[in-house]
Amino acid sequence: MHSNTEADGRGLTPAGLTSVKKSRRWTVLVWMGTLVTMGAQDRVMSSEETDHYEQAVAALAGRSYDTAGDSFARAAWQTLAAPRPEQGPFEAEQKGWVGTGVRYLVTSALCYRVAGRQDRARHRGTEAGAVAADLQTVLTHPAQQACLEELAADARLAGGLDDVGDAYSDAADAYRTSAGSVDNPQRWGTTPLFEAAATPLQQVARSTANGEIAIAWEDLHGPDPAAPGQFLAHRATYKRQRFPSLLESVVDDGYLAAPRGTTEYNNETYRCPDCGSNDVNWVADSVLCMRCSTPVEQR
Ligand SMILES: [Zn+2]
Repeated sequence: MHSNTEADGRGLTPAGLTSVKKSRRWTVLVWMGTLVTMGAQDRVMSSEETDHYEQAVAALAGRSYDTAGDSFARAAWQTLAAPRPEQGPFEAEQKGWVGTGVRYLVTSALCYRVAGRQDRARHRGTEAGAVAADLQTVLTHPAQQACLEELAADARLAGGLDDVGDAYSDAADAYRTSAGSVDNPQRWGTTPLFEAAATPLQQVARSTANGEIAIAWEDLHGPDPAAPGQFLAHRATYKRQRFPSLLESVVDDGYLAAPRGTTEYNNETYRCPDCGSNDVNWVADSVLCMRCSTPVEQR
């Protein structure tokens, strides 16, 4: 049905990622012929309760950023309580699903920034940083520890807090220090924890780029996987250089796009009532204009 499938909300397509298969609810990533990720599409559902993530995306589509901030916070708390069915947040595991909860907190802070709610953005950013720090006692692999520092830096930026540059530098240092423990940085870079840390940046970047993938996986990572410390440290260095100005642009424009899910160009069924585009973005349970995140209408 969808002619252009992409990794969940990421637009990240590392070299060697040989296939991405998606259904309504599931994403399967195959890396060099090996299954590396199989997960729920766009969200980590923890219960049959209200899907706050779906509501958050719908609020973004409605440009109700205060409401979106609230819904992303609720999605975060839901996800942090139970990152996956039968899985608690205080269990060491390789994929780092619990990072999705931190991602939602960071995104909540971004929404409040766009809504002009600096106070709530600051609180949410502080919260995201505290949760990321606490998770360092759980996700103890050095690469995961560094990624949580990267998320803590994102939290400082999203919350409008001080010392953002230093926080990204600390994360880059942590990645370099992790080098001896990392033999396959690309595999780490495609785990849910690392994807959670990439998504807010990409969401902000596509907001300024007509909905396109503005930051590719190769942009975010170093050139040489054989130098794993440098390869992963590039994430933090790149964010330090690019993320603040991208966020400033989004806040100035008062527009934050929905995350990019599964997209299709020139879909004959739908048309955007706002900009007329028929490039479509399926994300959560919404069908949105890929260009301006307005809900599309059937022709
Ligand atoms: Zn549109």
